[in-house]
Amino acid sequence: MTLLPFDNTYARLPETFYERIDPVPVQSPRLIRLNRPLAAELGLELPDGEDALARLFSGNEPPEGAQPLAQAYAGHQFGYFVPQLGDGRAVLLGEVVAPDGGRFDIQLKGSGRTRFSRGGDGRSPLGPVIREYVVSEAMHALSVPTSRALAMVATGETVHRDRPLPGGVLTRVAASHIRVGTFEYFAARSDTDALRLLADHVIDRHYPQCRDAANPYAELFARIAEAVAGLVARWMGVGFIHGVMNTDNTSVAGETIDFGPCAFMDRYDPAAVFSSIDHQGRYAFDNQPAVAQWNLSSLGGCLVPLLDADEGRARELAESVLADFPDRFQERFQRVMGRKIGVESGDAETFGLANELLGLMHRDRVDFTLAFRRLAGDEDAFLSLFGDREGAAGWLESWRGHLRGRNVDAVRAESVMRSANPAYIPRNHRVEQAIRAAEDHDDFAPTHRLIEALERPYEDRPEFAEYANPPEPQEVVSQTFCGT
Ligand code: AMP
Ligand code: MG
Repeated sequence: MTLLPFDNTYARLPETFYERIDPVPVQSPRLIRLNRPLAAELGLELPDGEDALARLFSGNEPPEGAQPLAQAYAGHQFGYFVPQLGDGRAVLLGEVVAPDGGRFDIQLKGSGRTRFSRGGDGRSPLGPVIREYVVSEAMHALSVPTSRALAMVATGETVHRDRPLPGGVLTRVAASHIRVGTFEYFAARSDTDALRLLADHVIDRHYPQCRDAANPYAELFARIAEAVAGLVARWMGVGFIHGVMNTDNTSVAGETIDFGPCAFMDRYDPAAVFSSIDHQGRYAFDNQPAVAQWNLSSLGGCLVPLLDADEGRARELAESVLADFPDRFQERFQRVMGRKIGVESGDAETFGLANELLGLMHRDRVDFTLAFRRLAGDEDAFLSLFGDREGAAGWLESWRGHLRGRNVDAVRAESVMRSANPAYIPRNHRVEQAIRAAEDHDDFAPTHRLIEALERPYEDRPEFAEYANPPEPQEVVSQTFCGT
C-alpha cells in the first residue's frame, strides 16, 4: 500500500527527539470520512475500497515509507511547567511533499500508547475526533491557518472516560507538529546542541528566509512571533476561542493545532470561556493575545543560548521581539476588524468604530457572527438583533459617514464584508448534536452534513440556512470538554 511521497526529515533528527513506535492496531476499523480534496492536494495515492482505507487510517496497516514516531515535547500547562509531555496518543507517520512543494506531517491521533502516555490509554473517543475534524476543516474554509483533517475512523473499541464511549482515530495534516513545548523540552535539559538542531530544522522547514539574516535565530523568533500574532488576530475575527493555549499546543508554524475544548462564541462576550477546565479564564476570548505573548516569552527564554554568546545581549534581543508583540498583534487585529466593517486600511479610527459596535453587541448580548453578516446588506435584520435599536441605528449612521469619509463605496464595502464575515461557523450546539448522534446512535449523517455546511462559509446557501442560526435557548452549549 502506498502513500507517496514520504520524506521524513524529523525521523532523521537524533533519537532524543522522539520514540520510534508503530500505531497500536485497533479491533475493527471503519472509515467514517475521507477528505478526498485534501488527499488530492497532497498528491496521495490511496488504496481502493473502504476496508483498505480503514486499515490505513486506523494505523492497522501503516503505509509504505512511513517511519512512525511519537514526538517528545514539554510544555507550560495553565502556567505550570511540565518537563515531559510528548505524543501520548498520537504518532507521526511521516512527512509528505505535495505536488506544489509544500511539506506536511501526516499524524494519527488516538493511535495507542507511547512512551509519553503517562497514565493515559493512548486512545480517543469518537467525539473529540469529530470535533477536531469539523472545526479544523471549518477553520481552513474560514482562511485561518490550521492543521487539517484527512480522515476519521471508528475503531470498534470502547474507550473508558466518565462512561464507556466508542473510540476513534483522526488523521491530521499539519505544516509540522513542532510546538513551543518542543523547544522547552530541550531547554529544560540544557541541551543546546539539540536546541540548535531543532531551530535549524524549523528554519529549513518554515522560515527559510532566516538563513540569510544577520542573526538567523533572532530572525526566527521574530517571524514566529509575527505568525502567532497574525493567527490570534484571525481567531478573534471569527469569534474563536482555542480553550487550551498551553505552550505545548502552540505551533511554531503559526497554525491552529490541538483542538480540544475549543469553541466559537455565539453572543459576543469578550470574557467568554467555554472550557470546563479553565476555571480562572486564563484562556478567555480577549485574553488570547496576552497568552500568546506569554507563550512566546517562554520560547524566547529557550532561544537565549542561540541568540548570542553574551547572555545579556541574547536576553535583550529576545526582549525586543517580545516588546514588539503588542504592536504587531494590534496591527493585524485592526486590519481584521476593519475588514469586518468594510474598510481595508486597518487604521485606528476604523478600529475604534468597530469596537463601538462590539460594545453595543456585548451590552445587548448579540450574536457575533450574525450581526457582522447582516451588516453586509440587511439593515433591518441587523437592527432587529439589538435590544437598543436606536443605539444600533446611531452606530449605523456614524459608520456610513465613516465610509463616505474614506471614499469606500457601499458595493465595495459589502464585498469586503462578505469575504470577512462568515455566514456559517461551527456553532457549539451543532458540533454537539453531531457528536451525540455519532456516539449515542452510530449516526454520522449530522456530522457529514455539518462538514458540508461549513465548506463554503462565506457563501449564502439556502439549503444550509439553519446552520447560520444561533442556538435556541435549550440548545445553548455553555461548556466544552477535552474529552480525551
Ligand atoms: P492536550 O492538552 O489535550 O493536547 O494533551 C496534553 C498531553 O496529554 C499530551 O502530552 C497528550 O499526548 C497527553 N494525552 C492526552 N490524552 C491522552 C490519552 N488518552 N492517552 C495518553 N496521553 C494523552
Ligand atoms: Mg496538545
